[in-house]
Amino acid sequence: MNKLQVELLVNQFPLLADLISLKPLSWFNPEITSFEEALPYVGLTAADVKLASERLLRFASFIERVFPETQISAGIIESPLQAIPEMKAALSVRYQTQLPGDLMVKLDSQLPISGSIKARGGIHEVLHHAESLALEAGILKLDDDYAKLDSDEFRDFFGQYKIAVGSTGNLGLSIGIMSATLGLKVSVHMSADARQWKKDRLRSHGVKVVEYASDYSVAVERGREEALKDPYCHFVDDENSTSLFLGYAVAADRLKKQFDEQGVLVDEAHPLFVYLPCGVGGGPGGVAFGLKLAFGDHVHCIFAEPTHSPCMLMGVHTGLHDEISVQELGIDNITAADGLAVGRASGFVGKAMARMIDGYITITDDEMYGLLGLLYDSQSIKLEPSALAGMPGMVQVMRNRDYLSRIGLEDKLEDATHLVWATGGGMVPDDEMEAYLQRAKE
Ligand SMILES: *Cc1c(COP(=O)(O)O)cnc(C)c1O
Repeated sequence: MNKLQVELLVNQFPLLADLISLKPLSWFNPEITSFEEALPYVGLTAADVKLASERLLRFASFIERVFPETQISAGIIESPLQAIPEMKAALSVRYQTQLPGDLMVKLDSQLPISGSIKARGGIHEVLHHAESLALEAGILKLDDDYAKLDSDEFRDFFGQYKIAVGSTGNLGLSIGIMSATLGLKVSVHMSADARQWKKDRLRSHGVKVVEYASDYSVAVERGREEALKDPYCHFVDDENSTSLFLGYAVAADRLKKQFDEQGVLVDEAHPLFVYLPCGVGGGPGGVAFGLKLAFGDHVHCIFAEPTHSPCMLMGVHTGLHDEISVQELGIDNITAADGLAVGRASGFVGKAMARMIDGYITITDDEMYGLLGLLYDSQSIKLEPSALAGMPGMVQVMRNRDYLSRIGLEDKLEDATHLVWATGGGMVPDDEMEAYLQRAKE
């Protein structure tokens, strides 16, 4: 896109000028529709999510064996749900805004194996691929006890095959650790912003880590090229994979059970708002799809991005989706938020999900750090900066009366639940976490 084209686009969409100036902002999409109308555009159904969910159940006995930390959940990789009333009070003071309703957090930071939301989609795709290979080879049946995959026979079998993925860090951790545990050969193509400790962790699992001096898009392209050259190599396509997307979507039914156990109502009179940090879009898109299947029009999903990487907001707002990158608007895509430094959104997710996503917010790196400190001080919860991206969402919603009246919820706010999806931080080394908390104080 040349300078003139950018100017024309900014004239057509004045919001882009604010995005370019890196101002934190919110945009509530006036073109959302009912869930029923939006569903056909996704191209996937509840039945697809059910298949993914059943697959994860089949693998549970294997997961439990090879990752003993999952024994308490019988091999199901799941995270806690918790109310954070002290944080809500602290937010109300910080932003000088009344915050009716309850605030909760979904701690995907505590997901076993990789300590981030990528333990949902990434791991599902690896298991899906491994299962297909073993079924095709006739060495596995759907009703077998999958614990048998924890054997030299299966590791030797999977050793003939390769997996490749491009990542800013967390996806690499999930794909790398799961693949290596099965015996698959795996290479992770890491962008420049990936943390050293993530690369070290992967190498300690025998994963091949290839490093690039450029951003995520280049790492992804190299991974794709590697796989194209080799018929035994499967490329995990973060931007377009439906297996990944469905792995994320499984979260919603499990969340529904956790709500039931904790007595949290979601219905006509008790709306649910969910704030999801967004990078390329697969994670938040998949979770949002599951949430819509589980709660229909009673759930309202809002995506959160760094001010330096607002690729999904830009793509959906302009309708250009993956045809435009933030760099083309002069935004640098440099942020401390691991997993969110993505300059070009997934075209699949934006197009499939735009009608179901109520809104988009952006947040500065400084604010993520500030909220990281606030959450630690108020609730003793430690997260990585990206996991805080959705934290100001409740405030943005409350300040946006036009949106609330458009969706007809102004009189139901006292009975609403606001859920912040905390997407990562569980494996951050102690010294790194200390540095985060130190920066929060500054
Ligand atoms: C990957 C990631 C996300 C967003 O997922 P996408 O599929 O890239 O949109 C959010 N938070 C963290 C910590 C992540 O690692």
